[in-house]
Parts: sequence; structure tokens; C-alpha cells
Amino acid sequence: MKTFQIKEEFMLDDKPVKIISGAIHYFRIPQSQWEDSLYNLKALGANTVETYIPWNIHEPEEGVFNFETKESVLPHKTVAQLSGLGWIGKNNLFITPEYGAAQCLGTVLTDAPLETVPYAPISPKCGNCNICRDICERKVLKGTTWNTAISRDDIIDVYGCSTCLKCLVHCPWTQKYVNFKSRFLQP
Ligand code: SF4
Ligand code: SF4
Repeated sequence: MKTFQIKEEFMLDDKPVKIISGAIHYFRIPQSQWEDSLYNLKALGANTVETYIPWNIHEPEEGVFNFETKESVLPHKTVAQLSGLGWIGKNNLFITPEYGAAQCLGTVLTDAPLETVPYAPISPKCGNCNICRDICERKVLKGTTWNTAISRDDIIDVYGCSTCLKCLVHCPWTQKYVNFKSRFLQP
């Protein structure tokens, strides 16, 4: 019988084991690519998969189940946009002046009595750029500029996206960050 203990280290069958976890959000990936995504995560050295289950997507009304939609429980990009941190680009990713699209968002919900500062949302700064739309091999980006009245589906067909991340990497705002980092953080 297998054993798992928490001592100075995690111990599996009395041998130390490191838990290397990666997140796969299954509801953002076409089901046909789940196996490839898991294979790639394992190839990167992970031995654990982390995910969460957005149950209100799957059960929009009590007793009514829908496993087809790809919507977020809490739209982090909209929250971040409204916070004044950056803007949603034509690649449907959140972009900040410092990091381009090379960041990962999380949102903390709290009723703590914190001081709040109202920010006007930053307008998207894509201008006439369409690099992400043109580089997308799946042709799922529509070249639409975000505004408060727009829906995600006006910007991207998420069901066709392969999550190749080309639209993230090639965005000039990401490149600006990458070039800055390589110039100043090289050993
Ligand atoms: S991740 Fe890849 S497939 Fe998806 S929108 Fe970006 S470039 Fe297109
Ligand atoms: S590649 Fe260009 S159009 Fe696309 S998000 Fe970046 S700045 Fe906007």
C-alpha cells in the first residue's frame, strides 16, 4: 500500500518527492487538445496538474448542465481593465505598459474595508496594429478593438484557438518588455 507523508519534505513511499504542478484550464482548451496539453505539461517536468472547475458555467441554472461554453466565472481581464492596470488588446489578452501580454492575472474578492481609488479604464493602445490578427494561423482573431459594450466573441473565436501563444509573444508590447529584460537582466 502506498504512503504519503508531509515531513521536512513530501514523502511518497518513504522517499522524498517534489510536487511540480502546472495549471491546465480545461474549459479554455478544445477537448481534442487536452491530451496534447497534458503530454506537454508532463514533458516540461510537471508531475501534478492543477485546475479549477467553474461550476456556474456548467450549471447556469439549478439542475441545467452545460459543458460546452468557455466562459470564465470571474472575467479577470475585465476586472483588471476596470482597475486601470492596462487594457484588453486585439489579441483578447490583457496588456500592461510594463509587461505587455506576458503576465498572468488573478483576482482577490474581499469585503475588507480597503481604501478604493476610482480609475478611468485605459483605452486600448493597439491603434492600427494588427500583428496578432495576421500572425494567428487559426485566423480566430477578428482585429476588433475592445470597448465596454463589446463581447468576447466579437474579438475572438475561442473555440478555434489552439493556445499557441503567438499573439502573446509577437505583440509589440510584449516584445518591448522582452527586449528590455534581455538588455538589463543578462548576466
Ligand atoms: S493563441 Fe494562437 S491560435 Fe489562439 S488567438 Fe493567439 S495566435 Fe491565434
Ligand atoms: S499585436 Fe498589435 S493589435 Fe495585437 S494586441 Fe498587440 S498591439 Fe494590439
